[in-house]
Amino acid sequence: MRFHPITAAAITALAVLTASPRNLAAQLALGAPPPAIRTEADLARFLDDLELQQWVLDRAATLEAYAQWRGEAHHQLAGISRLSTGLATRRDYARVVDQWKSRVKDSTLARRLELQGKFFLPAKADAATALALSALQTAIQDTFRQFRFTVGGQALTQTKLAAIIDSSADREVRRTAFEAFPQISARTTGPIRQAMVMTDRIGRQQGYANGAAAQLVLSSLTPAQVLRDLDAFEQATRPTYEALLARVRRDLGVERLEAWDLDYWFRTQQRAVADAYPTEQALARIRELATGLGFPVDSLPITVTIYDVPTGGVAFPIRPPYEARLLSNPFSGARFYATLFHEYGHTLHATRIRDDLPLGFLALDEQPATEGLAETLGHFAYDRRFLVRVAGVNPEQAAALERLGKLQQLLWLRRTIGANAYAEVQEYLDLEADFDSVYTAAYRRFVGVELPPGDYAATRDLFGTRPLYYPSYLYANMIATQLREAMRREFGTEDLSGEPRVAEWMTRHFYGPGQSVPWPEKIRRATGRPLDARALAEFLVVEVGG
Ligand SMILES: [Zn+2]
Repeated sequence: MRFHPITAAAITALAVLTASPRNLAAQLALGAPPPAIRTEADLARFLDDLELQQWVLDRAATLEAYAQWRGEAHHQLAGISRLSTGLATRRDYARVVDQWKSRVKDSTLARRLELQGKFFLPAKADAATALALSALQTAIQDTFRQFRFTVGGQALTQTKLAAIIDSSADREVRRTAFEAFPQISARTTGPIRQAMVMTDRIGRQQGYANGAAAQLVLSSLTPAQVLRDLDAFEQATRPTYEALLARVRRDLGVERLEAWDLDYWFRTQQRAVADAYPTEQALARIRELATGLGFPVDSLPITVTIYDVPTGGVAFPIRPPYEARLLSNPFSGARFYATLFHEYGHTLHATRIRDDLPLGFLALDEQPATEGLAETLGHFAYDRRFLVRVAGVNPEQAAALERLGKLQQLLWLRRTIGANAYAEVQEYLDLEADFDSVYTAAYRRFVGVELPPGDYAATRDLFGTRPLYYPSYLYANMIATQLREAMRREFGTEDLSGEPRVAEWMTRHFYGPGQSVPWPEKIRRATGRPLDARALAEFLVVEVGG
């Protein structure tokens, strides 16, 4: 055997590339047992290596998720999820984290361990269940993406179905489209049920009372807190909501309001005011907003693609802070704009994180805050001062569009968020209960209309794929309204849409520090008080009129 000169040179180059200032033997190889850790310096090195492995998996998973959402057939998401779950279920790593959690003096190390404590919760549960759940969730996601609904002999995506309900003047056509939703349940009722049972089992193994408690801890929330805030929100917004239902019933001239009437009313109302949301202007408008807020739009590494995805839109922090992408689906109307602005908010967040943070902090916040920062942008879609400046409408038209935007947000928060979140938390408190019945009751209370027969609970993929994701959006809206209120006060202006100090303020308090500061603390520091629902309740008080 002889060394070929080129091979020898290549080996030397590789050694130079991989050598670090410290002993290579002390580095944690992929999947290796943890080294002996005697000092905080040892612990910091272990966390550096561990966070790098988590980072690698996270980047790969984000890219593969992007491929999956683009409808590519050969994405590797299931395999990467399996690797991530394999890491999160490592009991030896979890033990190191547990042993040091209460002992470290350095506050940065303490925060890194706090985050690792949540990452390694799966290690406290049966690994086989976690792996099976992860595979099941990928399968559910694929079913929803691939499923086509049959209406009048045509095969339609969920987006197309929603568009019919949104825009068809023929009430029978709308009803037929709405009643097509449960077609998917034949394939999803069982898997979603199974995913919930597995989520619950894992949560109990982790030492929590149920699956909801275990999942909500990842958002720094509890089931009791969520039910209490949902109740308070439902009651605080009921007068405006009941006035809205009465108005819709009157305008449509119907005796009894049905689930397929509400979206249609919004579309006709918006069109009657002005055509302020043309589909082809949405991209230009979000750029205009971001510029007005003080973001260097042209140099942001953000790729925006309009693409039909089953949910409204989705953002991908490909490589924070150097690259982010979003997919937003081709709805029309205010909803399209609000979704696009929201997803753009996610990508702003991902690309404004400080790039010198330890890898463990170089991530978006926990769900409620991440969604809240996105909503902070989303609400601007129907801001009346912004519309006057960019949408070619007069102040009266803009005020009418803002009222409609808020009412639509109210409907969304009660129907998509309130009803789903309430049903989901209730179900985890008693998994013996029939989920379909629990869902129907929650829908009646939060939406104020009856669902037709059919398993509508199983038309919601997130119950299976993203347990306890819905409550995040209630908190997101509490956050968005409280942040804007604080900025208006601090900057002394009602018109934030043209206020270039917004970007700096958002970056300093929220985007920049990444996960180095817990989100409830970020909000307290930035707004001067803990998060509560007051600003949201005030935002949603609307004179319905008519
Ligand atoms: Zn979002």
